[in-house]
Amino acid sequence: MLKNLPSNPAALVAWTWPEIEPYYQELAARSLTAANVDAWLVDWSSVGERIDEMYARLTVATSVNTADTDADQRMNQFLDSLYPNVTAAEQKLKQKLLASQLEPPGFEIPLRNMRAEADLFHAANLPLLAEQQKLAIQYNKIYGAQTVNWEGEEITLTRLAINFQQPDRARREKAWKLKAARQLADAEAINKLWAKFMDVRASIAKNAGKPSYREYAWQQKLRFDYTPEDCKSFASAIEQVVVPAATRIYEKRKKSLGLDTLRPWDLVDGWFSRPAPPTGAPTLKPFASIDELKQGVSTIFHKVDPVLGGYFDTLLAEGLTDLANRKNKAPGAYCTSYPSIRRPFIFVNAVGTHDDVMTTLHESGHAFHIFETAGIPYVQQLNVPMEFAEVASMGMELLASPYLTRQDGGFYSESEAARARIEHLEGMILFWPFMAVVDSFQQWVYENPMKGTDPAACDTKWGELWDRFLPGVDWSGLEEIKVTGWHRKLHIHQVPFYYVEYGLAQLGAVQIFGNALKNQAEAVAAYRKALALGGTVTLPQLFEAAGAKFASDAAILKTAVGLMEEVIGELETKI
Ligand SMILES: [Zn+2]
Repeated sequence: MLKNLPSNPAALVAWTWPEIEPYYQELAARSLTAANVDAWLVDWSSVGERIDEMYARLTVATSVNTADTDADQRMNQFLDSLYPNVTAAEQKLKQKLLASQLEPPGFEIPLRNMRAEADLFHAANLPLLAEQQKLAIQYNKIYGAQTVNWEGEEITLTRLAINFQQPDRARREKAWKLKAARQLADAEAINKLWAKFMDVRASIAKNAGKPSYREYAWQQKLRFDYTPEDCKSFASAIEQVVVPAATRIYEKRKKSLGLDTLRPWDLVDGWFSRPAPPTGAPTLKPFASIDELKQGVSTIFHKVDPVLGGYFDTLLAEGLTDLANRKNKAPGAYCTSYPSIRRPFIFVNAVGTHDDVMTTLHESGHAFHIFETAGIPYVQQLNVPMEFAEVASMGMELLASPYLTRQDGGFYSESEAARARIEHLEGMILFWPFMAVVDSFQQWVYENPMKGTDPAACDTKWGELWDRFLPGVDWSGLEEIKVTGWHRKLHIHQVPFYYVEYGLAQLGAVQIFGNALKNQAEAVAAYRKALALGGTVTLPQLFEAAGAKFASDAAILKTAVGLMEEVIGELETKI
């Protein structure tokens, strides 16, 4: 047992490298045997989880108060001096464990991950990875600098896009076209940047001894349980099953809006999502104070499961949430983990909208994951793959959804809740075809790197995929902006291949929801059991424990979409 480790948050964030280094030195020097490896892992974890917690606590401090200069300074110190030292020290311990050839029980998956990471590591790639980061910053700069003159005022494109929710269709079209024209003005700059991204990625793959960047990305993302071929068949299944369902949604919405054709400026995001509700539909106002939000969400969770409800109450009692929007708070929402005490922290910017309710449910799903893994001994076993981490959160959105009505302790009248739930389910259906375009495009790019580097060929491919997966929206006369859609999907540029995870997780979440409609207690018990496994088993095993199948074929999608359409149909009778 290591002695004198910081035992409270204040001491923990004040920890310095000269204080930490001796622990790593001692761990690196200790000789490893089958008899002492468990104790060694416990000691390593007790240091590692404190470092992780330090970063989490600094993230919280800098985001709950962006004007906290002391927190800022500590975060910079952490990133500049502590983090590189810790990474190098952690690497040494990983190598030591791998070299020992010991296989502690329950450590198979962390070892598998360590081996993959060690195999991928090549010093020659360090400058290239840094170069890639710089290109990502340039990408942000190009989009960040885009403004337009709208009715005499210089505004950002994000603010301009608020007009897509306007009832006046001509005004929507005007705003949409202005945005498109401004983005097209930077097409050349994005194309040039793209060629650099592709060059740097080809070199990274080569240095790592991989036949293409796709193989590199697959291993880097620790994707052991599905292949590029599986992603392709997922896309085909989406085309076969989900595209017709998405087209039915677009058709229905088109009729309710009284339109002949659905144009991109009729959609809330100007791209692929659902159209804005018809004029006159009342906006949902679920809560007037943060206490009401907390109370409502707590009651909902208690209806889902008393233990989960209890976890949420613990968060509130221990001050582990910051839900209200206010000045000097960072944007967005997240759930982070304090691993040394095995507690989560939830950060939201709630202002009183339905989105705030959904975000709180989502982040609480992540928080429950952290509560459930409290019994797992080593921090290295807590690394849950994205494809399942999002099952915990998206699954919770769905498990909680039947209790949104006031009579169940939630926020809405029956018809308001029905409307919100329909939008949620429709949004999930509409997401899959878009995800398929993004993923299929990237598969093609890295399979055909010559063509993939040529912007004109990329445009052609994106246009083909768009027509194949999103036939429900009329883009005629807007071809130039349609085919350059890949420019505007930042994942393609900044975090390649990162996207299909959401599509897979969504399918897991719907399966759990389906189980709950049959037997909620059983479905939630399985959900909790799977969460409690943390990162100790494979992805298919996590899904299986949760009562779902890790699959992406047409049959499973058909069941999922059928169920979603059935629920939508029932909810429509309640509006
Ligand atoms: Zn999430």
